[in-house]
Amino acid sequence: MVRGVYIHIPFCHQICNYCDFNKFFFHNQPVDEYIEALGQEMALWADDLKNASIETIFIGGGTPTSLSVQQLDRLFTLIETHIPMEKLVEFTSEANPDELTLEKMQLMRKFGVNRLSMGVQTFDQDLLKVLGRTHSNDHVYKVIEYAKQTDFPSISIDLMYGLPNQTMDQWKASLEEAFRLNIPHISAYSLLVEPKTIFYNLLSKGKLTLPGEDLEADMYSYLMDEMKLHGYDQYEISNFAHKGKESKHNCFIGIMMNILGLEREHMGM
Ligand code: SF4
Repeated sequence: MVRGVYIHIPFCHQICNYCDFNKFFFHNQPVDEYIEALGQEMALWADDLKNASIETIFIGGGTPTSLSVQQLDRLFTLIETHIPMEKLVEFTSEANPDELTLEKMQLMRKFGVNRLSMGVQTFDQDLLKVLGRTHSNDHVYKVIEYAKQTDFPSISIDLMYGLPNQTMDQWKASLEEAFRLNIPHISAYSLLVEPKTIFYNLLSKGKLTLPGEDLEADMYSYLMDEMKLHGYDQYEISNFAHKGKESKHNCFIGIMMNILGLEREHMGM
């Protein structure tokens, strides 16, 4: 029985140096057409979805928040039209901190989005630049303030470790900041340098220095210890949450809607 739906928005306003996801630079892409095609894809699933108890929807990317307010409105309207939402308990949208406005967050809440998953990666401004990210810590603080104003029930942030030249002290400082902000759900990933990324090219030319396996392992150990100390349960290898704030989406068998990369295909998600 399908219980979760994943919808992919494969557009980004900037391409990060480490990224090997299915994404396209936003400029000159047929974004409106893609959203309409997603609507057609949802309509194709109508019969399958009619009797399904959809409990989770996850909009990922790319970056869903690369869409304008009007485009997000259209996307949410299509979702509301085609996906039964009576049993929905978790509706997540991924987000980049510098693309979230109060208006976008109000729109999300209006359509029932109750969980934000934000790509923070690090609170170290220099490392953010190394990663090719465009946001700053102030953007993150602003989103947290907007989340209070719009009564967002849950926020998750992604953090990364094992970054180029990252020291243990830098990793500790990023974690401390996340704890200070009392973020209820934290996903922490070690950097994997994948082919066809800027980091991969730099590494091949000997121009990228990574911390090494031992330090990376120490960072992961420290992460697990500190999470426990700060009251987070580790419910997956990379996921930590306050009680009741675990993501339900990953536990469900779902469908993936991504017209560029995948055909109609049942996915174990
Ligand atoms: S914002 Fe996310 S999907 Fe887009 S390029 Fe950066 S890491 Fe990749």
